[in-house]
Amino acid sequence: MILVALWFILLKFFSMEIDTAETVPAAGPPLYAVLGHPVAHSLSPQMQMAAFTACQIPARYLRIDVPPETLPATVQKLKSFAAPGWNCTLPLKNEMLTLVDEVDPSAQRLGVVNTVLNDAGRLIGFNTDGEGWMRAIREEFRMDVHDLRIMILGAGGAGRAVAVQAALERCERLVIVNRTFEKSQALVRELEPLMRTDKLMGSCARLAAIPWNDDAIAAEISNIDLLVNATSVGVISHDPLILPVRLLQPHLMVYDLIYRPAKTKLMEAAQEVGARGANGLGMLLHQGAAAFTIWTGISAPLDAMRTALLQACQSTR
Ligand code: NAP
Repeated sequence: MILVALWFILLKFFSMEIDTAETVPAAGPPLYAVLGHPVAHSLSPQMQMAAFTACQIPARYLRIDVPPETLPATVQKLKSFAAPGWNCTLPLKNEMLTLVDEVDPSAQRLGVVNTVLNDAGRLIGFNTDGEGWMRAIREEFRMDVHDLRIMILGAGGAGRAVAVQAALERCERLVIVNRTFEKSQALVRELEPLMRTDKLMGSCARLAAIPWNDDAIAAEISNIDLLVNATSVGVISHDPLILPVRLLQPHLMVYDLIYRPAKTKLMEAAQEVGARGANGLGMLLHQGAAAFTIWTGISAPLDAMRTALLQACQSTR
C-alpha cells in the first residue's frame, strides 16, 4: 500500500516536470526545451532558466520527453510555436542532425547535434560539448588544452567530442583508451589529419590508441598531464573505480565527466595519490552557456547558471 502511494507521488512529481509534444502549451513566453528519452534527469531547465532570469529575457525552458519515432513531428511542433531554440540529448542527437537545415562545423565533425537555433524558421544544428569541455579544463586547472598531453578513457559519444576538441586544439599528445579497442583505433584514424605536425615527441607517439589493460596504461601515464574519464563507469554508485589507484600519479590532472556524485570515485583516487581532480559539472555548465549564447547572442551569466546547477544537483541527489 505504502509502495503504491509512493509510486503515485513520484508519478505526480515527474509528470509535473516533464512535458510531451502534446502537452506543451502553445501560449506563453518564448519556448526553449531539452528533448530526450528519458529526459527526467536533465538539469538543463534549472541552468537555462537561471540564465534567462538573470538576463531578464522572457522565456520558458521545458523538459520534453520525445520517443525517437516522434522526433520529426516534435520538431515541426516546436517550429509551429516559433521556439527560438532547444537542446537535445540521448538518444536523439544523431537524428537531429538530419532534421536541421544547416549543420554547423561543430556538429558536422561529431555527427551529432546537441543545440538547435531556430533562425526565423531555418534550423541550424550545433554541438557545444567539445567547447564546453575545453572551457571547463581551462577553468578547473588554469591550463589550455593546447598545452597538454591528454589520455581519454572512453570513445563513445562524449569521448569522441572530447577527443575531437583536443585534436582541433592541437594538444601536445593524445592517447585514447577504450574497452572496445577497435573504436579507439577508428577514432585515432579519424583524428590523424588534425594532429599532423612537425613537432618531435621523442619516443612517444603523438596520437595513439592503446588497449585497455593496466600494463599499456601504466607505460603511457608518465607522459600524460590530463587524464579524462569519458566512460559511463562511475554513474552508478556501485560501479568500480575505472582504473586501479596504483596507475595514478601525483603530477596528473584528472577530469571525470561524471558529476553525480560531486566527488566521484576517480576524484577520490586522484586525491589519494596527491593529484588534482575535477568533476564534469563544469563541462555541463559551459556547454549550456555556449548554447545560451547561440540562442541569445549574449554572454551567458555563468555565476547564476553555476549556482542553479549546484542547487539542482543537491536537491536531486
Ligand atoms: P556512450 O556513448 O554510451 O559511451 C560509453 C563509453 O563508456 C564507451 O566508451 C564504453 O566503451 C565505455 N564503457 C562502458 N562501460 C564500460 C566498462 N565497464 N569498462 C570500460 N569502459 C566502459 O556514453 P557517452 O554519451 O559517451 O557518455 C559517457 C559519460 O560521460 C556518461 O557518464 C555521461 O553522463 C558523461 N557525460 C558528461 C557530460 C558533461 O557535460 N559532464 C557530457 C556528456 C556525457 P565501449 O565502447 O567499449 O562500449
